[in-house]
Amino acid sequence: MTDRTMTDRTLAKATTPLPFAIHRNAEPVAVGDRTKLLADPGFGRVFTDHMAVVRYSDTKGWHNAEITARKPLMLDPASAVLHYAQEIFEGLKAYRLADGTLAMFRPDANARRFQQSARRLAMPELPADVFVTSISELVNIDRDWFPSVDGGSLYIRPFMFASEVFLGVKPASEYLYLVIISPVGGYFKGGAPAVSIWVSQDYTRAAPGGTGAAKCGGNYASSLVAQAEATKHGCDQVVFLDAAEHRWLEELGGMNVFLVFEDGSLQTPPLSGTILPGITRDSLMTLARAEGLVVREQPYAIDQWRADAQSGRLTEAFACGTAAVVTPIGRVASPDGEFKIGAGGPGQLTTRLKQKLVDIQRGVGPDPHGWVHKLG
Ligand SMILES: *Cc1c(COP(=O)(O)O)cnc(C)c1O
Repeated sequence: MTDRTMTDRTLAKATTPLPFAIHRNAEPVAVGDRTKLLADPGFGRVFTDHMAVVRYSDTKGWHNAEITARKPLMLDPASAVLHYAQEIFEGLKAYRLADGTLAMFRPDANARRFQQSARRLAMPELPADVFVTSISELVNIDRDWFPSVDGGSLYIRPFMFASEVFLGVKPASEYLYLVIISPVGGYFKGGAPAVSIWVSQDYTRAAPGGTGAAKCGGNYASSLVAQAEATKHGCDQVVFLDAAEHRWLEELGGMNVFLVFEDGSLQTPPLSGTILPGITRDSLMTLARAEGLVVREQPYAIDQWRADAQSGRLTEAFACGTAAVVTPIGRVASPDGEFKIGAGGPGQLTTRLKQKLVDIQRGVGPDPHGWVHKLG
């Protein structure tokens, strides 16, 4: 076992700020082709001309930071990530503000969460300033890729994986951190319709002591069969219950969940270690509380959900995350039957809170919490 000592981490921190060498892509996508791609980018299939790369080794710390042409990676088949899945990622967006400038939304929060995920996966922590600089440099060089379609944005995907060539099971001694950008259209064309969700019976997403609170690829790998089951039952998304009692609401495969009650209060499951601490979740709680709304971070049982939906005490429910921002939940299904939420469509409070957040992200409304990080 190599032990990554505090000295290594301190050394890595001490070497910052890390300057990014800029190597422009000599063969960028032709303007005409780019325009065609950006007319209907969809989600996650179109990519820009460049990527950010930073290397890490136990001996050198963080080094070789560069912005370079986006291209396939050369990986040795024995690279540790391909075998033991030491990989973490982030997801955030750059928006075009009403005044025309590009801005990132709360990148410092993503930087912090990336460090927390790294700790859980026994990976080195990338200094927050390197994280934010890697993104701002990359967005800056690829700014012509911003899609002009309604609701368009740049979806930014920072990620890090174990690149050491070794089949022994241990925290790797070498890592690659990269950032790629995908121009995306509105996640749902014509605004978010309400989705149906399937309550997973046989699978759980996370258990106490596990990796549920870390943004790691492995969590997604293990949620795919449950999502496939939801699709088989005619539902759009899967929702997971807790591992111990299979009773308490946790979250969707990649989105946090909120409940809205007839008295105007909101509730969301607490961050007890098995739930991913969503930045959209945190932002919505902050906005709701600033409006004077009551927001409870408390466990909520699936039976209670059914009873409250049927009695009318619960009026709305929604899921939230960076990709789709806010998605109303219209119907909940399980082997015990299904129930409808409110009228089955987007609720009033859901729609209003979403608009408030989107207005801040797009620079339409004021930004009292300093969330919008403008780029040059
Ligand atoms: C990323 C993610 C979320 C949402 O987090 P945001 O920061 O709001 O995008 C929720 N749940 C899971 C499992 C996630 O991976």
